[in-house]
Amino acid sequence: MKAAPDAQKRLLDLAEQDAALDRLRHRRRTLPELAGIDDLSKRLAQIATQIIAAETEAADLGREQSKAESDVDAVRQRAERDQKRLDSGAVSSPRDLAGLQSEIASLHRRQGDLEEVVLEIMERRETADARVDALRAERETITADLVGAESRRDTAFAEIDKDGSEVTARRKTIAGEIPADLLALYEKLRESSGVGAALLHGGRCLGCRTTMSIADLNVIKAAKPDEVVRCEECRRILVRTNESGL
Ligand SMILES: [Zn+2]
Repeated sequence: MKAAPDAQKRLLDLAEQDAALDRLRHRRRTLPELAGIDDLSKRLAQIATQIIAAETEAADLGREQSKAESDVDAVRQRAERDQKRLDSGAVSSPRDLAGLQSEIASLHRRQGDLEEVVLEIMERRETADARVDALRAERETITADLVGAESRRDTAFAEIDKDGSEVTARRKTIAGEIPADLLALYEKLRESSGVGAALLHGGRCLGCRTTMSIADLNVIKAAKPDEVVRCEECRRILVRTNESGL
């Protein structure tokens, strides 16, 4: 392939823009905020599950408490009924009186036990409620952190994209100055190896950093300026300038 030396040199400018685009894409992919957002989102999903579990536990304990309280009420009402019967004087047989008194005493003991149960459930419920509150507070903090990280990410993305469109515009102008066949070769090489053209600098290909052999350098030296030469090692287009060491 043949191309005017200036057109060949323009490939280096094109490669520079492509390298800049690669760097911007890399920056977009590896933005530190992205890992942070990922972690925070995961923690948020985890905490949502934990909140549901804690809320369920608190609600279960609430029902358990109501049930225990109504058990206490039932025993207390029974004891009150018995006490009224006792106070009314309707029961006169000493044996029945003793039985009634013993039942009342036993109901009071039972009531005391059941009240203990209520207290114990209330304590567990307080712990569960406190856990729900703590988790909700944590969710709020994480949500705020996430919003902050997303906003920083979006700002960074906007900067990167702005730089990207500037570089893309420059690239378009440069590409427009390069003959179609040379540009097509460059694009093909860029697609396969990432970089389409490299400077031959001091006898060295700056694409793959290989130092040319004397024989290869002689071949390049013998090539006409409008001949498109390639690196034997990486197959990239080798652009010759005054710095090429020929
Ligand atoms: Zn090379």
